[in-house]
Amino acid sequence: MTDGETWNMKTILLKADENNITAADMKAAGDIIKNGGLVAFPTETVYGLGGDAMNPEASRKIYAAKGRPSDNPLIVHIYRMEDLYRIADEVGDGVLKLAEKYWPGPLTMIFKKKKIVPDQTTGGLDTVAVRMPDNRIALSFIEAAGGFIAAPSANLSGRPSTTTAEHVIEDMDGRIDMIIDGGSSVIGLESTIVDMTGSRPMILRPGYINGEMIKDVLGDVSYDPAVFGEETKGLHPKAPGMKYRHYAPKGELTIVKGERDAVISYIRQGAAEAVKDGKKVGVISASPETKRGSGTEKGTQSGAQDFPVSPKDNRYGKELFIMNIGDLEDEYSIARHLYDVLRECDKQDIDIIYSEDFSTPRIGQAIMNRLIKAAGHRVVEV
Ligand code: AMP
Ligand code: MG
Repeated sequence: MTDGETWNMKTILLKADENNITAADMKAAGDIIKNGGLVAFPTETVYGLGGDAMNPEASRKIYAAKGRPSDNPLIVHIYRMEDLYRIADEVGDGVLKLAEKYWPGPLTMIFKKKKIVPDQTTGGLDTVAVRMPDNRIALSFIEAAGGFIAAPSANLSGRPSTTTAEHVIEDMDGRIDMIIDGGSSVIGLESTIVDMTGSRPMILRPGYINGEMIKDVLGDVSYDPAVFGEETKGLHPKAPGMKYRHYAPKGELTIVKGERDAVISYIRQGAAEAVKDGKKVGVISASPETKRGSGTEKGTQSGAQDFPVSPKDNRYGKELFIMNIGDLEDEYSIARHLYDVLRECDKQDIDIIYSEDFSTPRIGQAIMNRLIKAAGHRVVEV
């Protein structure tokens, strides 16, 4: 996938503050894009790996740096509404209503593309995905770069997406020209993708903007069956990216669903056995006992009462990692930490991972869409 490339570029790290954006910094980043280079940048969803959307060579570089199949199209990021008309055909009333309500924001819309958009950017499709991100650094950067930034998530293909500059450094150092560090992404999951080219709006990928929120504005919404994991039954998802193994940690992840007591006892038993077999085990949990913070920022936590053995119980020493993903009372905190927890599994070299189910009311569909893919569809109902 990356054969032939050496990946020893000098990657500049640029710190930026949303409340104090420096024009000179944005110009430096924008100039890299205008010269055909790549810059990773913060957005409210995840970090993007940006190149000039109008430059086919920049798109080629994005695919190469990610190791991403080139039939998987990129999202074009804009900073003002009038630019939509330069790249998209048939911008209807529904689009304007959604843009009015949710742009800038975590919503990507699919349009018929205008000729000006290179085929390399859209993976050969005659449609184009467009989004206006809700992050001041991203908007200033897009403007400084000429207005059209093609970007997928700034992770190596197949790995969990990136929600901090540290994540981006892990995957992209030496492969791209610059990383703009704007802190942690506030949402932490990729945008909702809605296809606006058909007679009904169709959600191709769930995200923070859920079906109800789209229905509220348009009075109607439909779903690509792939959203519900139906691609395993031979259906082809309409967002090409949805068909690839995605977001996956190196360890084997299993999601355990069911009544809480049954879930806990299933995970306890499985984890205890795996630890006895000499495996490193991780448990992803939103139990109140596993709260994040207080010296356990990176997610591992001692003192979890519900799970197999607390790391305080040194029968199993350091082989068990209870990783808190967020607070059940605040479902958005679970979304925000998902990729950090999955990446932490790799850092700790965890072999076997169990996760609770996080089908929360508003963003649960998006969380579980990612988590089920990360688990390669290994879901156990107890
Ligand atoms: P990423 O930002 O890494 O999540 O990648 C962009 C996502 O947008 C991928 O899942 C693509 O398949 C999807 N996408 C981009 N352009 C289109 C398009 N024209 N039609 C359908 N899906 C698209
Ligand atoms: Mg991605």
